[in-house]
Order: sequence, then C-alpha cells, then structure tokens
Amino acid sequence: MRVYLNGEFVDISQARVPIDDRGFLFGDAVYEVIHLYGDHLFAWDLHIERLKFGLQALEFPPVDLDALRQAAEVLKQDRDYEEGSLYIQISRGVYPRSHVFPPEGTKPTVVMWIRPVDPVPAELLAEGVRVVTVPDDRWSKVWIKTVGLLPNVLAKEKARRMGAYEAIFVRDGVVTEASSANVFMVRRGVIRTAPETNYILPGITREVTLQIARELDLPVELKPFLPEEMYQADEAFLTGTNIGILPITTVDGHYLGKPGPVTQRLLQAFMAKTKEVSSRLG
Ligand code: PMP
Repeated sequence: MRVYLNGEFVDISQARVPIDDRGFLFGDAVYEVIHLYGDHLFAWDLHIERLKFGLQALEFPPVDLDALRQAAEVLKQDRDYEEGSLYIQISRGVYPRSHVFPPEGTKPTVVMWIRPVDPVPAELLAEGVRVVTVPDDRWSKVWIKTVGLLPNVLAKEKARRMGAYEAIFVRDGVVTEASSANVFMVRRGVIRTAPETNYILPGITREVTLQIARELDLPVELKPFLPEEMYQADEAFLTGTNIGILPITTVDGHYLGKPGPVTQRLLQAFMAKTKEVSSRLG
C-alpha cells in the first residue's frame, strides 16, 4: 500500500515521521477522512474547504491543497476494492519540542493514504444502533478538526463497554454530537440537529443530509435538544463519513422503534448521492 508523504509516494513500510513532528508531540495537526465509493471521492470539495478553514484557524503556513487532489488520484490507482477511506493529516511540521510555533519556513508534514473499508452492514442499517450519552468534556474549539481526539476515544470506548455503538456528548444539558458523528432526531415529522457552533464539528455528511432534507421538502430545525427529548423522539440517526446515515434505535436504554420513514427516505437519497458524481460533490 502506498502512502503520500510530503510530496512523495512511499510504501507504508517506509512511511516515517520524525519524533519531533508536532502532530505526534502536541496533537498540533488537522485531518480529514473522505469516503471513496467506487471511484468517487465523496464530497471532496466540501472536505477540502473544511480542511482549509482548520489550517487558517490554527495559523498554519500555506499548504498546496491542489497537489492533494492529484496525489489522491494516484493513490486511487491502487484500488482493488469497492469502498475505501482516504485519510489526510497535516501537522505544523517537525521542529525540536517547544510550545511556541516553529520558525517561519518550517514545512507542514502532509500525509495521505487510502485503506479499503467494508460497506456499512445491511443489518445495521435495517436494525439501527444503540447509543449512550456521556458528558462532553472536550475543549471549546471542536469545530476545528484536530487530531486531539482523546475525549472522543474515551467516549467511544465507554460506549463499546456498555454494549453501545456510539457515545453521544451532552454539554450544558443539551446534545452536541457523537464521538465521531453528528446526531439528528425526528419528532412529529420535523428533523432536528444542533446548530453549527464552536461546540460541534460541522460534519460534511450533516451538511449533505440537510441539503437532501431541503430537496425533499422535509422540515428542519437547527435547534439543540435534550437527551430526554431524544428518548421521546419518533426517530433518530447519526451522520458521518464512515457510516453515512445510520439509524439509532435505542438511546440510554430507551427504545425508539425500528428505523422510521424519515430516516429511510434520507438514507435512500443519500445512497443515491454517493453514486452520482457532480462537480459540488465529486
Ligand atoms: N463529529 C465528530 C466529532 C467527528 O469526528 C465526525 C467524523 N469526522 C463527525 C462529527 C462527522 O463529520 P463528517 O460527516 O464530516 O465525517
């Protein structure tokens, strides 16, 4: 398997980053995950736009993001699988450990590769998943997609140990998002999800889902909700690059029922979009 590392393609066994890399030492790095459906890097432009915002927010030196697209095309040539997951990580570069930013001229470390992934199992889509709520103890800039994911890792592991698929973060009494997905609920036909603030990652799948809801004329409210409201929801689902739209059937032990009609409609339309190559999504 080939890895793109600072402008070159190397075999994964040869892909090395020095110990003074700021991503390794400080989590001083941003990342993206882009799903490959067949030959189609889904929503590439939206992912790169978010990456650009993150790089700007953290005051990284300029990175040639066009080169990434060309490199991604090269990595795609190795494809002998139907679905893949492309990972991009950009750190502030390599410099002897010091909290202050490294001097001008220090080049960011840019790394990218694609791994095959299994499609979401049909049973999971048909049966939905269980989620549990956990306190949102992350920092206040979660809108920047940094690799500092320790609270997310701990939350997901807690969920796994409780027999759940995902952990849903609750901050100041309201649901923000999940450990690696955004969260939606449906009540009396109205789709609800938390508004974009610094406390959620503006998920690309969330964005695409909202776009689909508009196309289907389904009412949407960008309004935070309580876990207790989720317990009473008619439907709920997660959105994320790796999972697409995934129905939730149980929240903290409260059973909502089988995946409902609104979720099914959104899911169908989403799957259709993953197959269409448009300039905005391709
Ligand atoms: N929130 C968090 C914390 C995530 O890690 C992810 C997955 N990257 C998402 C939301 C969903 O974002 P996207 O749809 O862009 O994958």
